[in-house]
Amino acid sequence: MNILIYFVLSMAVLFLSYRISLSRALVFSALASLFILIHRRGLSPYETWVYLLFINTLPIAAERFKKDFDRHKGGMRARFEEVKGSYEGLMQKDRREIGSNLEKEKRLQQVLSLYEISKDMSSSLAFEGIFSIFSSTLKKSFRFRSSRLVLLKGSRDIEAVYQIELGQRIGKVVLDGLDRELVNIAVETKKTISISPQEHPEFSRRLSVIKTFETLVSIPLFVEERIAGVLYIENIHGTHFENFIILAAQFAIQFQKVILYKKVQEMSITDSLTEISTRRYFLERFLEEIRRSMRHKSNLAFLMLDLDHFKEKNDRFGHLVGDVILKEVAVILKSDLREIDIIGRYGGEEFSIVLAGTGREGAFQVAERIRQSTEGAVFKAYDEAVSTTVSIGVSVFPDDGVDREALIETADKALYKAKETGRNRVC
Ligand code: GH3
Ligand code: MG
Ligand code: MG
Repeated sequence: MNILIYFVLSMAVLFLSYRISLSRALVFSALASLFILIHRRGLSPYETWVYLLFINTLPIAAERFKKDFDRHKGGMRARFEEVKGSYEGLMQKDRREIGSNLEKEKRLQQVLSLYEISKDMSSSLAFEGIFSIFSSTLKKSFRFRSSRLVLLKGSRDIEAVYQIELGQRIGKVVLDGLDRELVNIAVETKKTISISPQEHPEFSRRLSVIKTFETLVSIPLFVEERIAGVLYIENIHGTHFENFIILAAQFAIQFQKVILYKKVQEMSITDSLTEISTRRYFLERFLEEIRRSMRHKSNLAFLMLDLDHFKEKNDRFGHLVGDVILKEVAVILKSDLREIDIIGRYGGEEFSIVLAGTGREGAFQVAERIRQSTEGAVFKAYDEAVSTTVSIGVSVFPDDGVDREALIETADKALYKAKETGRNRVC
């Protein structure tokens, strides 16, 4: 029973100091000490003093403990907030990462499909090939009203206009006012322009006089720093401007390639079918030969040779057989002529020859030899045995002319005469 009283008193001091206040706990412990000194139940004097010491130091010890605990709790809370903060930061970063990964993936897909498209386009060396791949990609990937490609010949001369429209056949169309104005803008600015309700009000005003549209993107196509075409698209959504420009840029590269390839072909020295000089290269060498003959005061002969009724051969046996005939005639020419003579493919089934240091008599002999060799030859072509004859016109330097044009004209007239007088002859 006595023990219980001492225990309850201690608990009361502890409670007051912990939950109420230190001063109240001290007052209470002083009163409790008085009570114990008066009653002193069941304790020796020594135990009484020990207990009094205990109950009076208890509030201070409890207060100390409480302060330590609170401080510790504050530290824990701060640490907790810190951990929570970094966790949330991490989660946010993660969400951002996921977002940007999706964006990256989308971009990657675009790049990959773009890569496929460019690969397809780059396998074609002809304008028709790349344009058809570009058109079908455009139709598959975008919603738009129509897209046009304006091809230029000179700086502002329009060569052709092609139209791409959803659900329509892609093809050549007649030039209209918008095409012309966009060519003018492309030549003026040399830049891609994206017109939307917010962008380029000046171009928008200028163009909407001709035709109304919601958006328009126009891209100049360059070949060797010259504008060779303008590609534009009407009413494509503003969010697709960038993707359209990327696709168009790929087309622009391929476009440049095919135009340059065509130019290289035209400028090349050797004709791919007959393996003799191209017309351009032949004419250059012809000029050099005339200059040389002038310097050396020597003769020179020019032969213009045309296959007789070649159209009939083509119609009867087909173009492939016609090609073999052309090739074989070129072989005859090479074998009948000297190394120093110049042979060219002047046109479709027309050949031209320069015989250096040769006068009229010699030229006629050579021409006659060629005529006979051709007449006597039988060419094997795709299960067919075919033959042909040639008509030849001759002119000589300096008697028939002292410049290239005059010599060509004279030979051409002679060739016409050979044709007129029955073909398979030299005039
Ligand atoms: P002519 O005796 O009056 O010269 O009659 P032609 O039929 O030879 O003359 P024309 O100019 O009417 O026809 C030339 C033909 O040559 C027409 C064209 O189809 C053909 N041709 C031109 N280049 C080639 C070619 O590279 N390959 C083939 N197979 N045919 C060609
Ligand atoms: Mg001809
Ligand atoms: Mg002919």
